Amino acid sequence: MLPAPDTIHQCPHCNAKARKSNLLSGNTFGSQLWSDGYMHAPMLPEMVQVTRCPGCRRIYWLADAQELRVVPGPVFEEQEVVVKRKWWFGTRKEKRSSYRPSPLADLPKLEHLDADGLVDALAEITIGSSPGSEEYLRTKIWWAYNDSFRNEPSASTAPLQEDDHRMNLEALLPLIDADDDQGRLKSAAVLLALGRFGYARAVAEEVVDKRLVPFKAKFIEAAEGHHGRVFRLR
Ligand SMILES: [Zn+2]
Repeated sequence: MLPAPDTIHQCPHCNAKARKSNLLSGNTFGSQLWSDGYMHAPMLPEMVQVTRCPGCRRIYWLADAQELRVVPGPVFEEQEVVVKRKWWFGTRKEKRSSYRPSPLADLPKLEHLDADGLVDALAEITIGSSPGSEEYLRTKIWWAYNDSFRNEPSASTAPLQEDDHRMNLEALLPLIDADDDQGRLKSAAVLLALGRFGYARAVAEEVVDKRLVPFKAKFIEAAEGHHGRVFRLR
């Protein structure tokens, strides 16, 4: 994993600056892929796309935030200083190196939204929001719900949480483009989670990409076994 230099972004609400981690390259070694499309990849961390401003606590999308083009870096300098001689009168000149950190070094880091933040961000979606942002947020909310079951499939949830979860999936389903195989698998996963096993199977059956055939088989197996919880694909 090769990190790229941080970039500085300005909150569109209050102009507070914050830094964002970036990646030059990463890989999927040691990654886990799940049926809801979530990939746990230690060597390929997901970049922040939507965040809460550390200054005003409001939510913004990085796409809407201005990036500062010129970021002052740290400075190493050799300076000549005049020091007093110890044993006799007078002074002498001495070279000293000094280090000045970038004035932006202490800026807070932009973080991913937590589950509550994702719901807040969803409430702020408007007609003018960029296409895909609602699907992005609803998918992330779904992943956050599924996180409870990734390592503990028999975990339980509160009825209210279950209602929110279903409502989120019902709203997510029509946003998914099921014209390609990735979208078909995503739709199948949502249908499984909603308990519509017959539909889930039918959508999974339509997957034709050879590379996805092993995954397709797992979706069909889950539909046949009426298994609605998230499961490992790889
Ligand atoms: Zn702000």
